[in-house]
Amino acid sequence: MVTGASSGIGAATARQLAGQGFHVIVGARRLDPLEKLAAELDGTALALDVTDAASVAEFAAAVPAARVLVNNAGGAFGLETVENADEDHWRSMWETNVLGTLRVTKALLPALIASGDGHVVTVTSVAAYELYDNGAGYTSAKHAQSALHRTLRGELLGRPVRVTEIVPGMVRTEFSLVRFDGDASRADQVYAGLTPLVAEDVAEVIGFAVSRPPHVNLDLIELKPRAQASATRAHRD
Ligand code: NAP
Repeated sequence: MVTGASSGIGAATARQLAGQGFHVIVGARRLDPLEKLAAELDGTALALDVTDAASVAEFAAAVPAARVLVNNAGGAFGLETVENADEDHWRSMWETNVLGTLRVTKALLPALIASGDGHVVTVTSVAAYELYDNGAGYTSAKHAQSALHRTLRGELLGRPVRVTEIVPGMVRTEFSLVRFDGDASRADQVYAGLTPLVAEDVAEVIGFAVSRPPHVNLDLIELKPRAQASATRAHRD
């Protein structure tokens, strides 16, 4: 299962995992791209809004069996100082990244455990480990999502479920377009003068993590463009 698979890292991950032989179940709110992707991959498209408990319950009920869950749905809204914080932006970021990951993981853990070789992959961010000005809504949500994910590592000891956190730096997807409410020129500036990662770069790493033998747990994988040293330092030509 890949959440947030209607674009970006989620769609690329679904393609990667299908290529590795998985039957992929893709979830997101936009059904059009999701259904096209599922048809291309011979997979299953299911409507999913991770901010809605009933939608998550319906999604989980429709999943017949589960080996790998990729918690990828998420994103950022806005870029404001704490002083000028937009509470609706904060609420959306926390609902999607934090509570969304909690709801989906909780709903699917029984099936993952029952598989005898389950795997929870969560796509957090360098924003889960670093802070930057104007970014507290997103960095706090990603820190919390990461704390939730890493707590699972201990809680699942003794049960057959692996836990991998994927920590990307800049990836060119719809992420910045969503963050800046469709403002393409502002989104383009994020990647100006450097070569960012593309969604497939992240997907390949996820494909690698889930294809290790069952006794091998890759706990955390951080990947960034060569031109990016941290959340706040990058070289631009
Ligand atoms: P993206 O292209 O905007 O994809 C985000 C995906 O999440 C979309 O498929 C979207 O689908 C889905 N989504 C959003 N809200 C949802 C909801 N309520 N319920 C279900 N699905 C929802 O951006 P992306 O870069 O691939 O982002 C994927 C993950 O990577 C996010 O968690 C993001 O925080 C993380 N990340 C991104 C970057 C980056 O630079 N791009 C860096 C580090 C981490 P619908 O709109 O159809 O629901």
